[in-house]
Amino acid sequence: MTTLMTYAGPVADDAPTTRTGGVPLAPADFTWPTCAMCSGSMQFLAQVLTGEHAVAIFMCANDPGLCEEWDPAAGGNRALVFPASELAPAQVPAEGETRLPEASGIDLVTDDAPYETAREQWAKTNGRPRREILGQLGGTPSWLQGDETPTCASCTQPMNLVAQLEQGLSRTEMNFGGGSGYAFACLPCAEATFLWQS
Ligand SMILES: [Zn+2]
Ligand SMILES: [Zn+2]
Repeated sequence: MTTLMTYAGPVADDAPTTRTGGVPLAPADFTWPTCAMCSGSMQFLAQVLTGEHAVAIFMCANDPGLCEEWDPAAGGNRALVFPASELAPAQVPAEGETRLPEASGIDLVTDDAPYETAREQWAKTNGRPRREILGQLGGTPSWLQGDETPTCASCTQPMNLVAQLEQGLSRTEMNFGGGSGYAFACLPCAEATFLWQS
C-alpha cells in the first residue's frame, strides 16, 4: 500500500495541514533550528500531521552542498516531533534562507502498488508530470542507494518512515541533489531523523 502525496496548489503559509513550505506550526517553546556547519538558520521544508503529532522537517540552504545536508547526523538538517495540540505558526528568523518560495497543499492518493509503480500509474492516469508527485506519506522507503533506516536514539528500535519527499516542482523545489529525502520518526519517543540520497 502506497500513499502518494501529490501537488494540490498553493495554500496559506500557516495552513494546519500536511504541506511543503510555508511556516511550521510549532509549540510555544520552539526554537528555529540552526545548522551545525554554518550556524545559519535552516530552511523549513515540510510538515506532516499524523493526528497526535506534527513532524517538521528542516534543512540548511545557506551554502548548498557545503553543510552535509544529506547526512542524518552531521547537523545540516533537522526533523522535529511536536504534540499536535497547541501548535501555532513559528516566528521566522530574519536572516538566512528560511522559507521555500511557496506553501504547497498536498492531496493523498492511495494505491496498492509499490511506490515507484504507483508514481508511474498516477502520472499516466492523470496526464500530469511526475514532478507533481511530491513524495509518499508513510509506507516503505524507496531507496536510491542502500537502506539507511535509522534507529531511535531513545529506544534503539528502527524508526518508521513519516514521509519520502521528492524535489518537486520548480516553485516548491527542495535541493536533494536530484534525489529523494526521507523523514523517519519514533513518535512515542518524539525522535525524528531526516536524510537524503541521490
Ligand atoms: Zn549550513
Ligand atoms: Zn523510540
